[in-house]
Amino acid sequence: MAHKIGVLALQGAVAEHIRSLQSAGVEAVAVKRTEELDELDGIVIPGGESTTIGKLMRKYGFIEALREFNAQGKPLFGTCAGLIVLAKELQGGEEAHLGLMDMTVVRNAFGRQRESFETELNIKGIDEPVRAVFIRAPLIGQVGADVDVLSVYNDEIVAARQGTLLAASFHPELTDDYRLHAYFADMVREASAAKTKA
Ligand code: GLN
Repeated sequence: MAHKIGVLALQGAVAEHIRSLQSAGVEAVAVKRTEELDELDGIVIPGGESTTIGKLMRKYGFIEALREFNAQGKPLFGTCAGLIVLAKELQGGEEAHLGLMDMTVVRNAFGRQRESFETELNIKGIDEPVRAVFIRAPLIGQVGADVDVLSVYNDEIVAARQGTLLAASFHPELTDDYRLHAYFADMVREASAAKTKA
């Protein structure tokens, strides 16, 4: 069965994610309305500005709808602002958005001089280092026991997975390297195979 992955298209880097998912061999579509979630097997929440994305998600009913999507066992992948949207807790007392992934996130965690930069990262589950673009990136401060740390940069967590949830501080959609999207596509295939069996 072919799998379809959506990219939440309220704000942020949508087209780039669609291109990377297609390069990884899956069907990908932009998602603007909650009704469109039914036909999807997984979803990407892109980078952008998390406060804006969170506001638009509330306005269009995506908070409840994506919690339900998660409860159905369908995978979610948040990059940069999307990672912030997934988190259970935001440092500084800001209100969480989806509150699904057991981690505390620090927004704009890299100082001014290091606001935007590129580096090579080792990512658990991917053989060779991945080129990573960081733009006013958040980092993952603390994680719960169920969270698997996938990548660390300067002792800080920059990618993690908790079951069907995947999060990255950087922008994997801004390079030609689509291996993290392929990793997510595998998560989606596994999750839907598990569901068919159940
Ligand atoms: N700084 C943004 C935020 O806090 C995230 C930046 C990004 O997604 N590139 O929402």
